[in-house]
This record gives sequence, structure tokens and C-alpha cells, in this order.
Amino acid sequence: MQNLNNQEKTLNLPAFFPDATYSTISHVPLYIVESILTGVVITTLHATANNLDTLLEELNISFSQFANLPQNIITLSDSGGFQVLSLIHNKKLGKITPDYAKFKYPKDGKIIKLTPEESQNIQHKLKTDIRTALDYPIMGHENIKTIQKSIKITIDWAKRSKKQFLKLLNIKNSEFKKTSPNIQKINNFSYQLKFSRPLLNGVIQGGNDKKARQECAQELTKIGFDLYGFGGWPITPEGNLNTDILEHFLTIIPSDKIAYAMGLGTPDDMATLIYMGYHLFDCTIPTRNARHGTLFVSKNNGEPKGKHYDVLHIKTERYIYDNKPIDPNCNCPVCKKYSRSYIRFLFKSKNPVASTLASIHNIWWYNNFIQKIKENSMALNFNIQDTKAKNNSNNSKQQLLLKAKATKQPSQNTLYIYHDATCKVQNAHIKGHSGKGKATCGFFFQINNKTILTKTIPVADNITIPEAEFRCFLFALEHAYNLIKKQNKKLFITKIITFTDSQLLAFWINGKYKIKKPHIKKLYEQYQQISNKFAKLNILVQVNWHARENKKASIADRLANE
Ligand SMILES: [Zn+2]
Repeated sequence: MQNLNNQEKTLNLPAFFPDATYSTISHVPLYIVESILTGVVITTLHATANNLDTLLEELNISFSQFANLPQNIITLSDSGGFQVLSLIHNKKLGKITPDYAKFKYPKDGKIIKLTPEESQNIQHKLKTDIRTALDYPIMGHENIKTIQKSIKITIDWAKRSKKQFLKLLNIKNSEFKKTSPNIQKINNFSYQLKFSRPLLNGVIQGGNDKKARQECAQELTKIGFDLYGFGGWPITPEGNLNTDILEHFLTIIPSDKIAYAMGLGTPDDMATLIYMGYHLFDCTIPTRNARHGTLFVSKNNGEPKGKHYDVLHIKTERYIYDNKPIDPNCNCPVCKKYSRSYIRFLFKSKNPVASTLASIHNIWWYNNFIQKIKENSMALNFNIQDTKAKNNSNNSKQQLLLKAKATKQPSQNTLYIYHDATCKVQNAHIKGHSGKGKATCGFFFQINNKTILTKTIPVADNITIPEAEFRCFLFALEHAYNLIKKQNKKLFITKIITFTDSQLLAFWINGKYKIKKPHIKKLYEQYQQISNKFAKLNILVQVNWHARENKKASIADRLANE
């Protein structure tokens, strides 16, 4: 049996590997996406549960050969460790001891006992390019006792995994070290790794405890691995990425080895992590979301979602007549060929091809997304509180400029509403806002820099300035709602941005000032009602305050300066 994979492989980073479970990406034949794939992840537990390892051993071929994958696609196997979280922790299907993890396989109730050695044996039978040491994962927020137990077992299993890996490859640790590849930087966000033997991934645990992470990293670095995975689940209870612990991880592993963000994340998470210095990602989000009809699209081409992406909930009614591709900026075979309307129809008629098309697009989109980051061709909007990132010199400044530029660009899916009320209050300069008068409301709508509606209407008599501004804002929103409803199929609005020069109004709406007066409270309730109506149409309403530079300028004048 050929133990050493002598052919040199190149892994271009950062890379996203979709989850190919034990044979293929769910609902997607690999050949359709192979032209854009860098690699795939094979799930060791599922592979052995379905006897893929024994079959490959009998055939004496690798998984790559079995699936007839092109040479340049890297195969990575996990260790079965992650299923400790998903099956043992969450579903109570098994148990963990200092010696092994025992699973009750959900599909057929089969008992599978994974020791660190057995996990390596299975991965060796799959002949994957990158293999993973078995670990004991836990959630981030576990108590210190659980964390200590997890790292103790993880360190012990890392030693045993490495020993078995060397034994199976028939190499000594000195040879492992000599042939362990370092990443080469190509440009700002682009790296490369060349290697000619299977690589071993060491998974670092420690929950959200930095000291425990450091201890685990120290021990695993001593053992020596080719890449280091962030193990566990770095998501805060609010569902946000725990950037603090993720950034700490990068300071405790060797800087010339791959930092692998295992099982993460959304496009925004990936952008943040690539910026931090992570290189490798695998995640079930694009395929799982695709099967549920959630499609990733570039910014301003769908329903607002993240900083760097929007989504389409393709099953909703708004796409019945939509003949645009899923994402006009996507070059995937599905976007080249089919309309949103067609894909929606397949979903609604429960045709399984719907999942296939949606998954192809999402995988393509994820890969393109990383490609764009690599090529520095997108304005990244990072979510890092860390001072290190903030102080990151020119690069960060440039990104801020790009971001500013990006937000200035009008979007055809955004309706901009400029509104202002004039309220003639006698002696207002003496009485401040407490005076009352006759108010008129003016507003106009813009889409893609084109004004589509201008209106002035009387508001009411005998009201205060803030109330007039509030009523004007509500008038404008009502008008927008009716317009969108009337032109449902023609106007594809995903976001409404309103501009007011009343700081008070913006602060009330955005919750910065508490509303005390009952008549304003009533207006706020009206705003909530209309905001809910927009939410049902998947339209987000954002209220912006902009300071008035020239008090006498009309809305139109001010708009010209926007
Ligand atoms: Zn596409």
C-alpha cells in the first residue's frame, strides 16, 4: 500500500471547503462544482458508519480516486470529534471516556467506538490529504472544570493521534517536522501551502478561557502538527462570533502554520476571520441554507442580511415573477441559466432539483466571496473590537475609505426618503420647541439617484416642531408603503433609508431618547405598525439623522449635497 503521497499538492489560501459528508456534497454531484472547489471535508464518523473506509480499503484506492476528483482538490477528513458536540452533547447519543468516544449512530442505531487510533485508521483508509487528531470539543461558555477535563483529554488524544499517524505513514517525528510545510504569503490576504505527504491537523480546545486555550496550544505545539484548528464553538450566547477568543488563538499557535476556523461561518464571519489571519474554513451553512431556500447574494441584490451579503428567501411570494438570476453578479451555472421565478417554482412544487440548484449556487457564491477577498476586490467591513486590528495601520485606513465609498453608492434596491416639516411657530426662538404652529410636510423619494416622487402636504395646525417632523416621517413611510404595494412586481425594494434633520426624531426612533409625552408615544406606535408592515415585505427601515448645515436650505438643496 502506498503510504506516502509523493505527488506535491498546492493549497491556495484562504479557502473554504464545503462539507462532502462521506461521499458527496448533499444534493450536489461533485463534478458540477469541481472547477471552483479547493477542497472538501469528509466526515470520518459518517464515513465509517456507512462502511466507506472498509470499501476503500478493499478497493485499495483513496477517496479522491473513488470520487474521481481532480488532483488539485484537497480532501480533508475530520476526526469525528465534532460529532461529540452534535451527537453526544446535544442528542445524548453516546458517551465520552478518557479512552474513547462512543456514538450511537442516529440512522441505524449502530454503536461506533472512536479512539484516537481508530479515528486515524479510518482516515488512513480514506487516504485523505489532511487528517485530524481526535479531540474532545465543548461549547465556549462551559465552566472551568469541564474545560480542564476537555483539554486534558484533548492533549492526551492529540499525542495518541500523532503517534498513530506516524505509524500508519511509517515515518519518524523528525521526518514529520522536516516535511511539515509552512504557509507562504502571496499578498495581503492570499497564501499558499505546498506539501507532499498527508498533513495532520491538531485541534485546540479550551472553551472561552484564554489560559486553558494557551495551555492546550502549548502542549499541541510541543507534539507538533501541520495545521491548528480552533476547536469548540466560538459563538456568544447572543449568536455573535466571539472575536476575542478567536483572535487570541492566533497568538498561541505557530504563525507559519495554517489557522483553521473549524465549522465557521457566515460570509461576514469569514471576512472578519480572514482579516484576523485565519486561512481555512469549512461550514455547512451554504448547503444547509440552500436546502431551506435561503440563497446568498451580493450586497444590494436581495433582502438585507449581513455587512457583506444579502439573502433571498426564494420561497416567498415576492419572487413569483422575478426573472432576474439569483445573483446578477454570480457566474455559477445556475445563475447563468435560471431565473429566481423558476427556482422558486421548483421549491414550491417540492422538486428535489430545487435543493441541487440552490446548493450549487451557494457553494459557488461562497467560493467567489473568498476569491474576492483574496483579490482585495471588495470593501471589507470588519467586526473586530480588538485594538490590534484597529491599529493595523494603512491597511485598515484603506478599508475604511473603501467602506465609506461603498456606502455612498446608491443601490437600486434601496428607497431613500428625504423628509422635512416646516412649522411656523411664533416666537420659537424664545419658546424653543414648546411653541405650536401650522405645519407643512415635504418629502421626496429616490431610487438609484433618481427622484421618483415629490410631495408637500399640510400636516396639522397647532402642533410642535418635533411632532410635525414625526408626522411628516409617518406620512412619507405610508406613501412609500402604498407605492411599493401598488408596484409590487416592478419595485424590488429591500431597504428604506430615511433622512431627517431632527435629531430628536432620529433618537426617539432609534431608542436613544425615551419618549415621555403621550401624544408622541401614539406616533411611535403608528411607526411600529408601519415598520411591521414593511417587515412582512422583508423590507428594513433605517432612520438616519443628518445635521442641517444651512438652516435655510430646502430639502431639495440639501439633497443635491448628499
Ligand atoms: Zn449563482
